[in-house]
Amino acid sequence: MKIKVETKENYSLLEHNTFGIDARCRRFVEYKSIEELLSVVGQEPLLHIGGGSNLLFLGDYEGTVLHSAIRSIEHRIEGNDVLLRVGAGVVWDDLVAYTISQGWYGLENLSLIPGEVGASAVQNIGAYGAEAKDYITEVECMNLHTGLQRTFSNAECRYGYRQSLFKTPEHRGQWAVLYVNYRLSLTFSPQLDYGGIRAELERQAIALPTLTASQLRQVIIGIRQAKLPDPKIQGNAGSFFMNPVVTREKYETLAREYPNMPHYDVGEDQVKIPAGWMIEQCGWKGRALGPAAVHDRQALVLVNLGGATGQDILNLCNTVRHDVAERFGIDIHPEVNLI
Ligand SMILES: Cc1cc2nc3c(=O)[nH]c(=O)nc-3n(C[C@H](O)[C@H](O)[C@H](O)COP(=O)(O)OP(=O)(O)OC[C@H]3O[C@@H](n4cnc5c(N)ncnc54)[C@H](O)[C@@H]3O)c2cc1C
Repeated sequence: MKIKVETKENYSLLEHNTFGIDARCRRFVEYKSIEELLSVVGQEPLLHIGGGSNLLFLGDYEGTVLHSAIRSIEHRIEGNDVLLRVGAGVVWDDLVAYTISQGWYGLENLSLIPGEVGASAVQNIGAYGAEAKDYITEVECMNLHTGLQRTFSNAECRYGYRQSLFKTPEHRGQWAVLYVNYRLSLTFSPQLDYGGIRAELERQAIALPTLTASQLRQVIIGIRQAKLPDPKIQGNAGSFFMNPVVTREKYETLAREYPNMPHYDVGEDQVKIPAGWMIEQCGWKGRALGPAAVHDRQALVLVNLGGATGQDILNLCNTVRHDVAERFGIDIHPEVNLI
């Protein structure tokens, strides 16, 4: 029997991107099974999206946009480990909440990151000292041109900071992530050394020996909500720029001029400099350019003040990049996927 999948024509993507850009696509397909996906592979061009929380549509998309509605969560206990196989369409934070409620630990620090499970494996999402790659064992995919299925091991995914095989020029746009497999633990081993978690626990008088995973989740949610704009209220895609890594020589030259410049050593000869700090130094924090602005509490985040187009956000991005390059001699790159 030939499977027919429901297709929406000339469809608005407004509800499918957290920047709140009213772009359209020629066709939109939400598939509920591998068979449904197979019925559309091979059509060109195809763009697979998740929750649209790391996308900026610069205009309409003249092709088919795919979205997974595979939302199963299977698990198996092996000794002290919990092995999960999760459909790409599961909302990431629902998975985090669910695992904690089951007593399966590991994902607490990744609470409240927007988006879906499929993208966690593409983006290698990270926060508060944890990254998806620390828990992913395998990623089950389908090739969008041939329909062939392939499972990538964690090593094959070539994970790095917000990087994976799926974002490299040879593989970008080639694969639909169908399922992501994770290894969690039955033992709660909290990671508390990042982003002011300990200070917040102290402030709330939560004693470490009694700390539970749900308390840690709530603390992280609280810290995130105080720092980041809620896309439901103000369109944004989280950190718009990646933090650049420069040579130690470059860092030392800059440090003579800016002795208070924050920085993190990331290797023998490499230093990471927060892009948000440089943007703030250029006077952009809280400043607008038309209907797009740099957020007033977090300079790494660009926001839609209302009715912005993708081009408005891109204009702001380019102006900020230009100013940072002129002042610091560093080219900062968008983390957000420009479509
Ligand atoms: C307020 C806010 C805070 C954020 N905080 C963080 C943070 O702390 N840490 C962090 O890492 N990120 C953060 N982000 C960015 C974002 O949440 C992540 O990048 C997330 O993984 C994107 O998920 P998504 O489902 O929305 O993917 P989308 O934005 O829809 O897509 C992202 C990329 O993944 C691809 N993709 C998505 N699903 C699939 C699939 N099933 N198969 C193949 N390709 C697919 C898309 O083609 C695209 O290249 C934040 C975003 C916002 C808005």
